[in-house]
Amino acid sequence: MSEESALRERLGRSRKVIVKVGSKSLAGDAWQRLANEVRALRDENREVVIVSSGAIALGVQRLGLKSRPRDMSWLQAAAAAGQSTLMQRWEAAFEPVGLTAAQVLLTHADLADRARTNNAQSALAALLEAGAVPIINENDAVAIDEIKFGDNDQLASMVVPLVGADLLLLLSDVEGLLDDKGQRVSLVRSFAKDARPFAEGSKSGVGTGGMTSKIEAARRATLAGASVVIAPARAPSVIARVLAGEDVGTLFPAVLQRLGARKHWIAFTLRPKGALVLDQGAAAAVLKNRSVLAVGVLGVRGTFGAGDSVSLFDVSGREIGRGLVQLSAVDAARAAGRKVEGEASPEVVHKDDLVLLPEE
Ligand code: GLU
Repeated sequence: MSEESALRERLGRSRKVIVKVGSKSLAGDAWQRLANEVRALRDENREVVIVSSGAIALGVQRLGLKSRPRDMSWLQAAAAAGQSTLMQRWEAAFEPVGLTAAQVLLTHADLADRARTNNAQSALAALLEAGAVPIINENDAVAIDEIKFGDNDQLASMVVPLVGADLLLLLSDVEGLLDDKGQRVSLVRSFAKDARPFAEGSKSGVGTGGMTSKIEAARRATLAGASVVIAPARAPSVIARVLAGEDVGTLFPAVLQRLGARKHWIAFTLRPKGALVLDQGAAAAVLKNRSVLAVGVLGVRGTFGAGDSVSLFDVSGREIGRGLVQLSAVDAARAAGRKVEGEASPEVVHKDDLVLLPEE
């Protein structure tokens, strides 16, 4: 058996599946087709979480707007009007197959807060235990540009560690990732070689992010321990086919050594408020997962407080990791590079709060 078939076959063992579906793919009988597929997954004792776009698109119709508005408050209005219709569509599709939908609306501010993240995690776990199907969307009515997830591909990648999913399906209006000849890439072994070069050329046209965003979401999700498949939402029984190991869409296999949920959160959910530039010794220490001491800090950028997340750069300008700082930017700058005879250099980032970013 080829490596790819083995990886594909392994998808059948997935216990917790996140299905992210884009706005353009939600029309006509799409809700019912997906509900039927979710029913089949539940019958196989798999847990399912849906990340559903579509609020703004439905709200635009409902409010009788001619096109998608640009103005933030009008987008928020459309999302508010559309979210309830979106849930009605899911409920109507779930009803005949005996599934229970549960709406969960999240903002990035919720997930950037550890306590709120833990609450969301417990609520989702309880919903799954109760046999319901959480339907997650961004709380667009209160989200503004600066605090948005980016798009629902990113949101879905942040939900992976939250529920401990082992498979993320990104369903959209494309066959998968297409290479420079327009051929579907069926397996991505290396993001740098097999995915990124084709990111721009294969705009999916869906939602806000397109293929670049999907690839980034896939990277984050695979680092959290889930395999990811980008697949065409309109293909009949697409979910069942992926789980049966068929050659459909583009597969990004999960990494073997996943990041724990907290480290993943530090690396990918939090947004760095600043940066530390490290000397060679400190960078080498970071790569061995040792704490960052002020003496090894060459420079401090941005304004951050103790507990905020920062990027860690080596002297060549490569971002080698991220971490939570113990000192504010002002204090870190004051202590940077200083060596006081007989005194230990203060710790700027403790090793437990440090995450190494893989090269690609
Ligand atoms: N939250 C948006 C909506 O429901 C969709 C964002 C996206 O598709 O990326 O309309």
